[in-house]
Amino acid sequence: MSAPVVVTIDGPAGAGKSSVAKQLARKLGYRLLDTGAIYRAVALAAQRAGVDWTDGDALATVARDLAIRFDWVGETNHVFVADDDVTVAIRAPEISQGASQVSAHAPVRAALLDLQRRLGAGGGVVVEGRDTGTVVFPRAEAKFFLTATVQERARRRTAELEANGKPVDAEATLREIRERDERDASRDVAPMVAAADAVLVDSSRQTLEQVVESLAAAVAARVGGR
Ligand code: C5P
Repeated sequence: MSAPVVVTIDGPAGAGKSSVAKQLARKLGYRLLDTGAIYRAVALAAQRAGVDWTDGDALATVARDLAIRFDWVGETNHVFVADDDVTVAIRAPEISQGASQVSAHAPVRAALLDLQRRLGAGGGVVVEGRDTGTVVFPRAEAKFFLTATVQERARRRTAELEANGKPVDAEATLREIRERDERDASRDVAPMVAAADAVLVDSSRQTLEQVVESLAAAVAARVGGR
């Protein structure tokens, strides 16, 4: 493959975006940009600073001041805010809901737009999120919208939390995923929708390897001749 491009993967919680994006980035020799981690970091930083998740203007200040950095430690893409490693803290279920609330505020999204574009500058990057193919990188060369049934997504999220040694209520996980879907898809600003030129991929009945293979083939088909 010739010129390094921008690949976007959007879709709802639990569709497998993180695992697929990570494997695809490795396969292509690309960087990985996890935009959800940025919204999560804003929610956490706000909580620590005593800023309410409903206060859009104060949250935008938190977002503008966010000194976020990603760094690979072995197999894990660690997230640092200032010098604090928040990789685990931002995955707490409470912060998932917080990120979803925080991300619905237009001033927060505006404050994070430049940051995301800077982090993805130069191409050679797989970007994952909700609006990366529609708003953040509308001219990305290869776009995907990855989804799966809500039951399958809840099952995966439960298994993931259990594997991390967290006690999990499967019913609550399903309810939380539904709530997040609803909020992410119905917000006024940058709602979660597939870009018109995105390839739709349903991962419900596919293994991680199969999804990664098909995405890599689609990227090659789109940009191979460039
Ligand atoms: O993907 P992840 O579950 O880490 O995202 C956390 C939350 O951040 C999502 O529920 C969504 O509300 C928000 N988000 C967003 N736009 C993105 C990425 C994430 O609104 N590009």
